[in-house]
Amino acid sequence: MDCIFCKIANKEERADIVYEDRKIIAFKDIYPVAPTHILVVPKKHIPSVDHLEPGDKNLIGDLLLITQKIARQLSLAKTGYKLVFNVGRGGGQKIDHLHLHLLGGWGKKLKNKN
Ligand code: 5GP
Ligand code: ZN
Repeated sequence: MDCIFCKIANKEERADIVYEDRKIIAFKDIYPVAPTHILVVPKKHIPSVDHLEPGDKNLIGDLLLITQKIARQLSLAKTGYKLVFNVGRGGGQKIDHLHLHLLGGWGKKLKNKN
């Protein structure tokens, strides 16, 4: 299958990986829209949130808890962060392999405002 995120998960394409286990991989977005922009991705090819099935319950729960862990490790948790799932073309999804955007790192800006 010609899917860029499957290729990254299979190490056929390179990415700046920040987390990996048997089921999940997380890497830096190639075109960041925040000081820190990570994509948290299940290795299983699920096209979008709209394609989740009851059997994916544990996987999606793990994805969220791992995202929390990554946010803490990258020091995003203190200043706060955004989590975004784009779903379908109208929802802004361009890569048809489920991924959670972890956006943060605006700490400096917040400090300057005070
Ligand atoms: P979407 O719009 O589908 O929710 O988000 C896809 C994201 O994947 C975009 O933010 C885009 O910058 C990122 N992206 C697209 N191709 C690649 C790639 O080859 N490597 C990495 N690391 N990110 C990619
Ligand atoms: Zn895929």
